[in-house]
Amino acid sequence: MSLMECRLEHELRPSEQEGEMTATARARELYQLSFSGQLGHYLHGHDNEAKISSGLKLAASRGRFDSVEIGNTSVSPFEYLGFLEKVVFPNTVNTFSNKFLGHMTAPLPAFITEVAGAISQMNQNQVKVETSNILTLIERQVLGAIHHKIFAYPEAFYDNYMQCPESSLGVVTGGGTLANITSLSYALNCAFRADGDFAGLTKEGLVAALRHYGYEDVVIIGSKRMHYSVDKAAKLLGLGEKNVIRLDTDSNGRVDLAEMQMYLQECQQNNIHVLAVIGIAGATETGSVDPLEDIGRLAKAFGVHYHVDAAWGGAYAFSSQHRDLIQGIELADTVTICAHKQLYIPMGTSLCIFRSPDFASHSENNTAYQCKKGSYDLGRYTIEGSRPASVLMLHALLNIWGDEGIGHIFETTLSTTRLFTEKIRQSESFFLVQEPALNIVVYRYMPVSLRHRVEAGDALSSDELDFVNAINRQIQSQQFMNGNTFASSTTLVDDDEETVVFRSVFCNPLAREKDIEQLLADQEEIAKALAISELLAMS
Ligand SMILES: *Cc1c(COP(=O)(O)O)cnc(C)c1O
Repeated sequence: MSLMECRLEHELRPSEQEGEMTATARARELYQLSFSGQLGHYLHGHDNEAKISSGLKLAASRGRFDSVEIGNTSVSPFEYLGFLEKVVFPNTVNTFSNKFLGHMTAPLPAFITEVAGAISQMNQNQVKVETSNILTLIERQVLGAIHHKIFAYPEAFYDNYMQCPESSLGVVTGGGTLANITSLSYALNCAFRADGDFAGLTKEGLVAALRHYGYEDVVIIGSKRMHYSVDKAAKLLGLGEKNVIRLDTDSNGRVDLAEMQMYLQECQQNNIHVLAVIGIAGATETGSVDPLEDIGRLAKAFGVHYHVDAAWGGAYAFSSQHRDLIQGIELADTVTICAHKQLYIPMGTSLCIFRSPDFASHSENNTAYQCKKGSYDLGRYTIEGSRPASVLMLHALLNIWGDEGIGHIFETTLSTTRLFTEKIRQSESFFLVQEPALNIVVYRYMPVSLRHRVEAGDALSSDELDFVNAINRQIQSQQFMNGNTFASSTTLVDDDEETVVFRSVFCNPLAREKDIEQLLADQEEIAKALAISELLAMS
């Protein structure tokens, strides 16, 4: 009996067919289990006024999270709903709170969460036309529209390239990290492309590429405030963290241009390939914006790929009123923007925009069953394979809020930032570490006695500096545990000196003056209690 005959006979056995019917019926039953539309109703505590967090310790006490046994006996959706309501929802972090002002996470507009629901209901896969259809066209259109907001090329450019399957004006990724990795990886593939009898980096690898092009090494140059995803990119490309050159910054956190030029010259003289210079539009820790135009000019003069990491600040390109905050972004070859930060889309949507329509052509991936040459499949140009249709949320935002609405939101968050900065300036207890360029403020607490000495020009002893760092660290963790208000914390290193700072991020346009006042009042109260006990312990 041939294999085919064997299979046919097997398929035609009546008992099997009956078995299959029952199986289908049971599957249908399993598919129809539902929370009957009640889930949203039980998701309380995620609103602008509710408490922020209960801390991880308390969360850990809510269940047996060290047990591997899940689902040995199944429960009804109703019972599971009870678990969500009592155990899970109250122990998450309420990112919708108006007093949650320390991370790049904001409340979402109602229509966005509704589109998010529709996206999972339709379950499209953007990797290929056969699983996404019209959403492929929409993704290409949104990428083109954002390309236009950054580079403002004439209409004919978009007529030619926006819907042309042989070119790509950018990719939608699962995050800013992957957008940065995409840019740096494709820039390397582009630089070390096929040439004569060399088949290109993507075929022959990095060692052969360096040999062919006559380079000793490859580096990435940017400021010390670069996001750590640049190090991840280097590691994935077979480079090391040492190949990421992190330059000093001025007192506003902007990269030192003279040093950048010096390194570019040095690389040129020593046969070192500069994979990219990176300009930051909104550094993660401080919100600072590099001199994007000057870096662009340097990159051009040295013929180097220019990537602007605008994960945070790129959103300002969406508002004609705020576009000048990131002036110079239009000189970039590639730009990273996180839609899940300042474009109010749920976690997991970022963009890497390519100036040149054939930038990705040296990095294309094809297989026999999808992403074939000549096809419309978006997966030809992405590092990721299967991808959700998140772009529809961005499309909705562009249409529904529009330039005016987006501009209004930014105006609101920037004015909250100015108000907060003013309060820090007027405070006895806090002081501003750096002038905010966008809507992130770094500041710290310092006991009044020490502060007066600093203002009088006294240098603090290293014990005193350690004390100030320690107390800032403690205030922040106590504040998180209390869960009423929230700012985050980071340590800035300048000339080997560590400065622990609070970092407030103002991307919640619903936060009011009384919310930011409470944030500071909370910190001050915790500080005073800590300072008293510390000073007692020290004496
Ligand atoms: C947030 C951020 C990233 C990384 O984005 P993820 O979405 O967290 O991967 C990269 N660069 C900068 C400047 C960022 O602020």
